[in-house]
Amino acid sequence: MNNIFYLYTLGCKLNFAESSAIARRFAVLGWKQTRIAQEAELFVVHSCAVTQTAEKKTRQQISKLMRLNPEAKMVVTGCMADVNIESLEKMAANSPFLIVPNAQKMQIPNLMAAKPDNRSELDSFVGAYSLEQRTRSFLKIQDGCDNFCTYCTVPYARGRSRSNNIENVLANIETIRQQGFCEINLTGVNIATFGQERGESFLQLLQKIDSHFSDIRIRLGSNEPDLLNDEIIALVANSKIMMPHFHIPLQSGTDSVLKRMNRHYDTALFRSKVEQIKTQMPYACVAADVITGFPGETDEEFEQTFQFIESLNISYLHVFPYSDRPLAKASKFENKVNPHEIRQRVNRLIELGLRKQEAFFRSNLGSIRSMLPEATTRDGLRFGFTDNYIKCALPKENAKENELLDVKLINLSDDKEFVLVQQLLAEKL
Ligand code: SF4
Repeated sequence: MNNIFYLYTLGCKLNFAESSAIARRFAVLGWKQTRIAQEAELFVVHSCAVTQTAEKKTRQQISKLMRLNPEAKMVVTGCMADVNIESLEKMAANSPFLIVPNAQKMQIPNLMAAKPDNRSELDSFVGAYSLEQRTRSFLKIQDGCDNFCTYCTVPYARGRSRSNNIENVLANIETIRQQGFCEINLTGVNIATFGQERGESFLQLLQKIDSHFSDIRIRLGSNEPDLLNDEIIALVANSKIMMPHFHIPLQSGTDSVLKRMNRHYDTALFRSKVEQIKTQMPYACVAADVITGFPGETDEEFEQTFQFIESLNISYLHVFPYSDRPLAKASKFENKVNPHEIRQRVNRLIELGLRKQEAFFRSNLGSIRSMLPEATTRDGLRFGFTDNYIKCALPKENAKENELLDVKLINLSDDKEFVLVQQLLAEKL
């Protein structure tokens, strides 16, 4: 045995952070990771089940890898291993592979070495962070969710909310910082529930991070609107290391739909959060998620959502077509919206999101922001993101990967997908 594995990850940032942690555990046990599928003796597919498309991509990837190298062993884990295990089992019946439940995925390296840890350890919180990119690291601080929104299967796939503790998170940040990273994204399923099970809070965590570190950029992952409190907003507004970037899931701009989704807020609360952020940080990036075509979403409800979003001062909109997930309550709801109608609603919202993005970019032209240049280069330009999450670019020779710069935002690119910037002064945070 050469102990060479190939790891393929689908889905969210949390999956990527966890995959990095799995890869590190393999490395400790003497395994070598390869990017060439044909030379691997073990495939690990970290699946996603957030939509039917994500599941389809997972199945396609499993088949592709098995075709490329039929001799290799295959292990499949991730959300699909919990929420749609039947479809994986069907595939495995033809060409056998191992399915590892989501809660046990960190034990895959030990399982492969035939030294599984004990069960209680499998169910506890497992921290993870990604170190693959050289600029940004995703640090998992929390997992699971207790909300049971009616369209979502995450609580079934990832279990109840649980999290790391403040001390460990601070230690993780220090480790990542020492590896030369300039930016850390705090990730989780419902990060603002951090610490609830042990009397700590997300706010306390942010306060500690803010007082301990001065030379790293911290970006918050998606934050449920009802848990995004005044103190968190004020802390970000006054912090030198917390980036002015909020990602707040809206899901619908109609109270009746939010209720059917079992969301824990209404549109008035959502609007007040956005206004509060923009009053304290007019330059801040506010990104929102929306799902359209939820069962029973009428034309009027959709129009209301459209107009609500149009009236909000948001920067980006991530649009998702509703798709039935077998374990989710909403899959049993009546009055499903037909797929053609869903596609039309999605297209209208995408177009609205692009208008919001352009307006956000334009409102920042002329301003000076801090940019973190990344590895990506194209047409003589190097790309990166500002503190307020504007994708920007400048001539390649004027910026080094992973060296923070102060830049002036000059112009929109021809395709309006990024902003051309001018370097002011090379400076570390
Ligand atoms: S808050 Fe709702 S949508 Fe988000 S993970 Fe929890 S159940 Fe799913």
